Amino acid sequence: MSEFIRGDGRKYDELRPIKIEAGVLERADGSAYLEVGGNKILVAVYGPRESYIRRLLEPNTGVIRCRYNMAPFSVDDRKRPGPDRRSSEISKITADALRPALMLENYPRSMVDVFIEVIEAEGGTRCAGITAASVALVDAGIPMKDIVVGCAAGKVDDRVVLDLSEKEDKEGQADVPIAMMPRTGEITLLQSDGDLSEEEFQQALALAVEGCKKVSKIQKDALKRKYATG
Ligand code: UDP
Repeated sequence: MSEFIRGDGRKYDELRPIKIEAGVLERADGSAYLEVGGNKILVAVYGPRESYIRRLLEPNTGVIRCRYNMAPFSVDDRKRPGPDRRSSEISKITADALRPALMLENYPRSMVDVFIEVIEAEGGTRCAGITAASVALVDAGIPMKDIVVGCAAGKVDDRVVLDLSEKEDKEGQADVPIAMMPRTGEITLLQSDGDLSEEEFQQALALAVEGCKKVSKIQKDALKRKYATG
């Protein structure tokens, strides 16, 4: 089952080539740039800063807000600029995936803004966005319990595989994006789209967890490159 080679030459448990850089923007408090396969994603973090939106202000804790945005030129068919149902959903699940790692109780009446800009998209952007956002949050110096990491597995040609490309996502039968805190193993995002038996779902989940652990190392390497001294 593990011997077959995918359309793009990968094994079933192989990630697309991935690279991450921390601290790429001057004006943001924290930032990161990530490429995985054909995805190019830039993240800027601002805060914690005093909440400038009254209705979001919480007297006993800070709040995190995320905006996931796809550039009009990021996909083959021009994407209509501005928010839509998909980007609103991804913005929400991204904030939900990152929040458990942040010690926001230390920042009452404050907010952390995370801007995720997808410059080029090629499948798996929600997970890539979460992975890059975590690096940008660390770069902003925000205390965190763990560095959240995202990765997806799915089913293509009746086989469970890691990190679906756009082609695999479109032609495949299912996609299971997850995010987790690798230190504790706590899952902070779990979505499942398509048809999977219970056994296939368990296989996809296990594969996505292994994928997250590999991406986690690349996040840490990016931060070491930026901050290691001597
Ligand atoms: N996509 C696109 N146009 C859109 C939205 C998505 O071409 O308006 C592509 C893009 O490459 C994206 C992929 O479809 O990465 C899969 O989208 P999905 O909604 O499954 O989210 P993702 O896998 O990016 O988290």
